[in-house]
Amino acid sequence: MHLGILSRNSSLYSTRRLMEAAEARGHTIRVVDTLRCYMNIASHKPRIHYKGEDLEDFDAVIPRIGSSITFYGASVVRQFEMMGVFSLNESVAITRSRDKLRSLQLLSRKGIGLPVTGFAHSPDDIPDLIQMVGGAPLVIKLLEGTQGIGVVLAETEKAAESVIQAFMGLKANIMVQEYIKEAGGADIRCFVIGDKVVAAMKRQAPDGEFRSNLHRGGQAELIKITPEERSTAVRAAKAMGLRVSGVDLLRSNHGPVVMEVNSSPGLEGIEKATGKDVAGLIIDYIEKNAAPYKNKTQGRG
Ligand code: ADP
Ligand code: MG
Repeated sequence: MHLGILSRNSSLYSTRRLMEAAEARGHTIRVVDTLRCYMNIASHKPRIHYKGEDLEDFDAVIPRIGSSITFYGASVVRQFEMMGVFSLNESVAITRSRDKLRSLQLLSRKGIGLPVTGFAHSPDDIPDLIQMVGGAPLVIKLLEGTQGIGVVLAETEKAAESVIQAFMGLKANIMVQEYIKEAGGADIRCFVIGDKVVAAMKRQAPDGEFRSNLHRGGQAELIKITPEERSTAVRAAKAMGLRVSGVDLLRSNHGPVVMEVNSSPGLEGIEKATGKDVAGLIIDYIEKNAAPYKNKTQGRG
């Protein structure tokens, strides 16, 4: 096969590993800088141009779209879909995953365990919103935050009220969430490919921190997950329409709850914590599943 990776930087760990894994299996693979793809939206022959050339045909593309370029990146992926190229994750699913609220709404429709979450527009509704999620302590999150930035723990109702007011005053979109204290500053990242969890790790926040993100100093280790956690992760990935994803769970008193589903999950943390060849498993999945015009949504919401 001839594969493309949409990535801004070929020296990133995940990009390098995917290239190695593809080449080790006898495929050719090219890194394409997402932001240098430009498009001719023609009715009969949609194409993508790249640094002055008409980009060659790929059998499949692997989108690695950073959250800072979601709009442009999803547009490029959609153009590949219009050309019939198999995209490991489809543009619509990527866009869904980047909005935490939209993601939770889609997961709730499938009855998947979630932290109790509220969303409101008017400052007048703040007191009731706080009660809706069970009162303080509670978590306040920017809908489009990443790497733990934009996630705040409010210990008291007064603190919650003023933080929510401040965000609303800035016109930032936030949601308010039940704080899963019993998770103890740890979450579980399940790496899902197709309908399987192929690797899982626990991330533990450092002392005094509740956010377990590796970018916030969290430590990763191998963990054995329960059958319920496994099925929750797989159902969450399916509800989002992602073929490859990182599903983040918290262990709550009422079972596993999904916090978010990542559409470009990093490989470094998970491969190092579990010793698994996740990049190889991704390429294996593409070998088995990629075919022209096989994308399900073709850009439809
Ligand atoms: P980001 O996209 O910035 O990673 P997350 O929603 O994943 O945002 O939150 C970051 C971290 O904060 C999580 O990995 C988890 O450790 C902690 N966290 C988030 N929401 C909750 C919650 N409702 N209860 C307890 N901890 C939470
Ligand atoms: Mg997260």
